[in-house]
Amino acid sequence: MSGREAFVTLATTNSYCMGATVVARSLRRHGTTRSIVVMVTPNVSEQSRLALQSVFDEVITVDVMDSGDRLNLSLLGRPELGITFTKIHCWTLTQYSKCVFLDADTLVLCNVDELFHRDELSAAPDPGWPDCFNSGVFVFRPSLHTHHRLLEHARQHGSFDGGDQGLLNSFFSGWPVEDISKHLPFIYNLSASSLYSYLPAFQQFGHDAKIVHFLGSEKPWSSSSRREGGHSHMEQFVSLWWREYRSNTEASAAETPQQTQTK
Ligand code: UDP
Ligand code: MN
Repeated sequence: MSGREAFVTLATTNSYCMGATVVARSLRRHGTTRSIVVMVTPNVSEQSRLALQSVFDEVITVDVMDSGDRLNLSLLGRPELGITFTKIHCWTLTQYSKCVFLDADTLVLCNVDELFHRDELSAAPDPGWPDCFNSGVFVFRPSLHTHHRLLEHARQHGSFDGGDQGLLNSFFSGWPVEDISKHLPFIYNLSASSLYSYLPAFQQFGHDAKIVHFLGSEKPWSSSSRREGGHSHMEQFVSLWWREYRSNTEASAAETPQQTQTK
Protein backbone atom coordinates (compact mmCIF):
# COMPACT_ATOMS: atom_id res chain seq x y z
CA MET A 1 0.00 0.00 0.00
CA SER A 2 2.67 2.48 0.99
CA GLY A 3 4.39 2.18 -2.39
CA ARG A 4 1.49 3.48 -4.43
CA GLU A 5 1.87 6.71 -6.35
CA ALA A 6 -0.73 8.97 -7.90
CA PHE A 7 -1.41 12.06 -9.93
CA VAL A 8 -3.87 14.27 -8.07
CA THR A 9 -6.05 17.14 -9.22
CA LEU A 10 -8.87 19.21 -7.73
CA ALA A 11 -12.28 20.43 -8.93
CA THR A 12 -14.64 22.49 -6.78
CA THR A 13 -17.03 23.49 -9.58
CA ASN A 14 -18.60 21.77 -12.57
CA SER A 15 -16.50 23.81 -15.00
CA TYR A 16 -13.23 22.87 -13.28
CA CYS A 17 -14.50 19.27 -13.61
CA MET A 18 -14.15 19.75 -17.39
CA GLY A 19 -10.52 20.65 -16.80
CA ALA A 20 -9.97 17.72 -14.47
CA THR A 21 -11.37 15.38 -17.15
CA VAL A 22 -8.73 16.61 -19.59
CA VAL A 23 -5.97 16.16 -17.00
CA ALA A 24 -6.97 12.50 -16.58
CA ARG A 25 -7.47 11.79 -20.29
CA SER A 26 -4.17 13.37 -21.25
CA LEU A 27 -2.33 11.39 -18.55
CA ARG A 28 -3.90 8.14 -19.80
CA ARG A 29 -3.25 8.97 -23.43
CA HIS A 30 0.44 9.10 -22.60
CA GLY A 31 0.37 5.81 -20.75
CA THR A 32 0.94 6.68 -17.12
CA THR A 33 1.39 3.67 -14.85
CA ARG A 34 0.31 5.66 -11.77
CA SER A 35 -3.16 6.10 -10.29
CA ILE A 36 -5.13 9.21 -11.23
CA VAL A 37 -7.12 10.83 -8.45
CA VAL A 38 -9.44 13.83 -8.26
CA MET A 39 -10.56 15.64 -5.12
CA VAL A 40 -14.02 17.19 -5.41
CA THR A 41 -16.08 19.29 -3.02
CA PRO A 42 -19.63 18.30 -2.00
CA ASN A 43 -21.26 20.98 -4.21
CA VAL A 44 -20.04 19.28 -7.41
CA SER A 45 -23.09 17.79 -9.14
CA GLU A 46 -23.79 14.09 -9.17
CA GLN A 47 -23.61 14.18 -12.96
CA SER A 48 -20.12 15.73 -12.96
CA ARG A 49 -18.99 13.27 -10.31
CA LEU A 50 -20.19 10.31 -12.38
CA ALA A 51 -18.37 11.68 -15.42
CA LEU A 52 -15.19 11.95 -13.36
CA GLN A 53 -15.62 8.40 -12.10
CA SER A 54 -15.36 7.15 -15.66
CA VAL A 55 -11.88 8.64 -16.16
CA PHE A 56 -10.32 8.72 -12.67
CA ASP A 57 -9.23 5.78 -10.52
CA GLU A 58 -10.50 7.56 -7.43
CA VAL A 59 -12.90 10.46 -6.84
CA ILE A 60 -12.44 11.72 -3.29
CA THR A 61 -14.77 14.20 -1.61
CA VAL A 62 -13.06 16.82 0.53
CA ASP A 63 -14.32 19.82 2.50
CA VAL A 64 -14.17 23.28 1.00
CA MET A 65 -11.43 25.45 2.43
CA ASP A 66 -11.33 29.13 1.62
CA SER A 67 -8.70 31.61 2.69
CA GLY A 68 -11.36 34.35 2.85
CA ASP A 69 -8.52 36.79 2.14
CA ARG A 70 -10.29 39.30 -0.07
CA LEU A 71 -7.64 41.99 0.16
CA ASN A 72 -4.74 39.94 -1.21
CA LEU A 73 -6.95 38.20 -3.72
CA SER A 74 -8.04 41.55 -5.09
CA LEU A 75 -4.39 42.60 -5.39
CA LEU A 76 -3.92 39.42 -7.39
CA GLY A 77 -7.03 40.30 -9.43
CA ARG A 78 -8.46 36.82 -8.78
CA PRO A 79 -11.19 37.04 -6.12
CA GLU A 80 -12.18 33.43 -6.82
CA LEU A 81 -8.90 31.83 -5.72
CA GLY A 82 -9.49 31.68 -1.93
CA ILE A 83 -11.01 28.29 -2.57
CA THR A 84 -7.68 26.96 -3.82
CA PHE A 85 -6.83 26.43 -0.13
CA THR A 86 -8.85 23.26 -0.64
CA LYS A 87 -5.81 21.94 -2.51
CA ILE A 88 -4.01 21.51 0.83
CA HIS A 89 -6.20 18.44 1.47
CA CYS A 90 -4.02 16.55 -1.00
CA TRP A 91 -1.60 15.92 1.89
CA THR A 92 -4.26 13.69 3.48
CA LEU A 93 -4.07 11.11 0.67
CA THR A 94 -1.83 8.85 2.74
CA GLN A 95 -2.91 5.73 0.83
CA TYR A 96 -0.22 6.99 -1.60
CA SER A 97 3.43 7.38 -0.71
CA LYS A 98 4.16 10.05 -3.29
CA CYS A 99 1.98 12.18 -5.54
CA VAL A 100 2.19 14.75 -8.29
CA PHE A 101 -0.42 17.49 -8.03
CA LEU A 102 -1.67 18.96 -11.31
CA ASP A 103 -4.03 21.93 -11.47
CA ALA A 104 -7.27 21.20 -13.30
CA ASP A 105 -6.20 23.77 -15.92
CA THR A 106 -3.19 21.76 -17.09
CA LEU A 107 -2.79 19.59 -20.18
CA VAL A 108 -0.24 16.76 -20.26
CA LEU A 109 1.59 16.45 -23.60
CA CYS A 110 3.71 13.34 -23.02
CA ASN A 111 4.48 10.75 -20.35
CA VAL A 112 5.70 12.56 -17.23
CA ASP A 113 5.98 9.60 -14.83
CA GLU A 114 9.63 10.52 -14.24
CA LEU A 115 8.31 13.27 -11.95
CA PHE A 116 7.96 10.56 -9.29
CA HIS A 117 11.75 10.40 -9.07
CA ARG A 118 11.63 13.85 -7.48
CA ASP A 119 11.04 14.62 -3.82
CA GLU A 120 8.78 16.95 -1.87
CA LEU A 121 8.51 19.79 -2.61
CA SER A 122 9.50 19.93 -6.26
CA ALA A 123 7.93 22.52 -8.55
CA ALA A 124 8.75 24.86 -11.42
CA PRO A 125 9.37 28.60 -11.04
CA ASP A 126 6.43 30.96 -11.27
CA PRO A 127 6.71 33.10 -14.43
CA GLY A 128 5.63 36.22 -12.53
CA TRP A 129 8.15 35.87 -9.69
CA PRO A 130 10.65 33.07 -10.36
CA ASP A 131 11.88 32.91 -6.74
CA CYS A 132 8.43 31.52 -6.00
CA PHE A 133 7.37 28.15 -7.33
CA ASN A 134 4.13 27.88 -9.24
CA SER A 135 1.72 25.60 -7.38
CA GLY A 136 -0.02 24.31 -10.50
CA VAL A 137 2.38 21.33 -10.77
CA PHE A 138 4.22 19.95 -7.74
CA VAL A 139 5.59 16.73 -6.27
CA PHE A 140 4.64 16.00 -2.65
CA ARG A 141 4.47 13.28 0.00
CA PRO A 142 1.07 12.84 1.61
CA SER A 143 1.41 13.10 5.40
CA LEU A 144 -1.14 13.95 8.05
CA HIS A 145 1.63 15.61 10.01
CA THR A 146 2.52 17.93 7.10
CA HIS A 147 -1.19 18.56 6.48
CA HIS A 148 -1.63 19.60 10.09
CA ARG A 149 1.44 21.87 9.96
CA LEU A 150 0.17 23.48 6.75
CA LEU A 151 -3.21 24.22 8.36
CA GLU A 152 -1.47 25.64 11.39
CA HIS A 153 0.75 27.79 9.17
CA ALA A 154 -2.33 29.04 7.30
CA ARG A 155 -4.08 29.86 10.57
CA GLN A 156 -1.09 31.75 11.95
CA HIS A 157 0.26 33.49 8.86
CA GLY A 158 -2.49 33.27 6.22
CA SER A 159 -1.26 33.38 2.64
CA PHE A 160 0.53 36.34 1.12
CA ASP A 161 -1.48 36.07 -2.11
CA GLY A 162 -4.69 34.74 -0.58
CA GLY A 163 -4.39 31.45 -2.49
CA ASP A 164 -2.62 28.12 -2.01
CA GLN A 165 0.52 29.31 -3.83
CA GLY A 166 1.32 32.00 -1.26
CA LEU A 167 0.78 29.57 1.60
CA LEU A 168 2.85 26.79 0.04
CA ASN A 169 5.71 29.13 -0.85
CA SER A 170 5.98 30.51 2.66
CA PHE A 171 5.72 27.00 4.14
CA PHE A 172 8.33 25.49 1.78
CA SER A 173 10.40 28.64 2.05
CA GLY A 174 13.72 26.95 1.31
CA TRP A 175 12.64 26.12 -2.25
CA PRO A 176 14.36 29.04 -4.07
CA VAL A 177 17.80 28.46 -2.57
CA GLU A 178 18.18 25.02 -1.02
CA ASP A 179 18.09 22.17 -3.50
CA ILE A 180 18.23 22.58 -7.27
CA SER A 181 16.83 19.05 -7.79
CA LYS A 182 13.55 20.42 -6.45
CA HIS A 183 13.39 22.94 -9.28
CA LEU A 184 11.39 21.34 -12.05
CA PRO A 185 12.28 22.48 -15.55
CA PHE A 186 9.84 25.08 -16.81
CA ILE A 187 8.63 22.69 -19.53
CA TYR A 188 6.74 20.79 -16.79
CA ASN A 189 4.62 23.86 -16.12
CA LEU A 190 4.62 25.96 -19.26
CA SER A 191 2.25 28.84 -18.76
CA ALA A 192 0.54 30.88 -21.41
CA SER A 193 1.96 34.11 -20.02
CA SER A 194 5.50 33.04 -20.95
CA LEU A 195 4.49 33.11 -24.60
CA TYR A 196 3.71 36.78 -24.31
CA SER A 197 6.65 37.73 -22.12
CA TYR A 198 9.48 35.74 -23.79
CA LEU A 199 8.43 34.50 -27.21
CA PRO A 200 11.96 33.74 -28.52
CA ALA A 201 12.51 31.34 -25.59
CA PHE A 202 9.23 29.67 -26.39
CA GLN A 203 10.29 29.31 -30.02
CA GLN A 204 13.60 27.82 -28.93
CA PHE A 205 12.38 25.45 -26.21
CA GLY A 206 8.59 25.28 -26.53
CA HIS A 207 8.61 22.09 -28.63
CA ASP A 208 9.94 20.25 -25.54
CA ALA A 209 6.90 21.26 -23.49
CA LYS A 210 5.59 18.43 -21.34
CA ILE A 211 2.77 20.07 -19.39
CA VAL A 212 0.91 23.20 -20.47
CA HIS A 213 -0.73 25.29 -17.75
CA PHE A 214 -3.61 27.58 -18.71
CA LEU A 215 -2.80 29.92 -15.84
CA GLY A 216 -4.88 33.05 -15.42
CA SER A 217 -8.57 33.89 -15.50
CA GLU A 218 -9.06 32.74 -19.11
CA LYS A 219 -9.48 28.99 -19.22
CA PRO A 220 -9.84 26.79 -22.31
CA TRP A 221 -13.39 25.97 -21.28
CA SER A 222 -14.43 29.61 -20.87
CA SER A 223 -16.20 31.04 -23.91
CA SER A 224 -14.06 34.20 -24.09
CA SER A 225 -10.90 32.20 -24.49
CA ARG A 226 -12.51 30.24 -27.31
CA ARG A 227 -13.47 33.34 -29.24
CA GLU A 228 -10.16 35.12 -28.77
CA GLY A 229 -8.23 35.91 -31.92
CA GLY A 230 -5.01 36.01 -29.83
CA HIS A 231 -1.78 34.15 -29.98
CA SER A 232 -1.49 31.29 -32.42
CA HIS A 233 0.72 29.08 -30.21
CA MET A 234 -1.73 29.41 -27.40
CA GLU A 235 -4.64 28.76 -29.74
CA GLN A 236 -2.97 25.50 -30.73
CA PHE A 237 -2.77 24.42 -27.10
CA VAL A 238 -6.38 25.47 -26.55
CA SER A 239 -7.55 23.42 -29.53
CA LEU A 240 -5.46 20.49 -28.32
CA TRP A 241 -7.26 20.85 -24.99
CA TRP A 242 -10.64 20.70 -26.78
CA ARG A 243 -9.57 17.70 -28.80
CA GLU A 244 -8.67 15.92 -25.56
CA TYR A 245 -11.92 16.98 -23.94
CA ARG A 246 -13.96 15.65 -26.84
CA SER A 247 -11.88 12.49 -27.27
CA ASN A 248 -14.50 10.51 -25.41
CA THR A 249 -17.90 11.89 -26.29
CA GLU A 250 -19.97 9.79 -23.89
CA ALA A 251 -18.45 11.42 -20.78
CA SER A 252 -20.10 14.75 -21.40
CA ALA A 253 -21.81 15.17 -18.05
CA ALA A 254 -19.38 17.83 -16.87
CA GLU A 255 -20.27 20.09 -19.77
CA THR A 256 -21.36 23.66 -19.24
CA PRO A 257 -23.62 25.67 -21.55
CA GLN A 258 -20.62 27.26 -23.31
CA GLN A 259 -19.82 23.79 -24.54
CA THR A 260 -22.59 23.86 -27.05
CA GLN A 261 -21.09 26.75 -29.00
CA THR A 262 -19.31 25.92 -32.18
CA LYS A 263 -15.63 26.57 -32.33
N1 UDP B 1 -9.89 25.39 -8.43
C1 UDP B 1 -11.18 24.87 -8.34
N2 UDP B 1 -12.24 25.74 -8.31
C2 UDP B 1 -12.10 27.09 -8.39
C3 UDP B 1 -10.80 27.61 -8.51
C4 UDP B 1 -9.72 26.74 -8.54
O1 UDP B 1 -11.35 23.66 -8.27
O2 UDP B 1 -13.11 27.80 -8.36
C5 UDP B 1 -8.76 24.46 -8.41
C6 UDP B 1 -8.44 23.88 -9.78
O3 UDP B 1 -7.81 22.63 -9.62
C7 UDP B 1 -7.48 24.91 -10.31
C8 UDP B 1 -6.66 25.21 -9.07
O4 UDP B 1 -7.60 25.17 -8.00
O5 UDP B 1 -6.70 24.44 -11.39
C9 UDP B 1 -5.94 26.55 -9.08
O6 UDP B 1 -6.78 27.55 -9.62
P1 UDP B 1 -6.48 28.16 -11.07
O7 UDP B 1 -5.89 27.10 -11.92
O8 UDP B 1 -7.72 28.84 -11.55
O9 UDP B 1 -5.38 29.26 -10.71
P2 UDP B 1 -4.22 29.80 -11.71
O10 UDP B 1 -3.41 28.61 -12.12
O11 UDP B 1 -4.91 30.45 -12.86
O12 UDP B 1 -3.46 30.75 -10.84
MN1 MN C 1 -3.90 26.73 -12.67
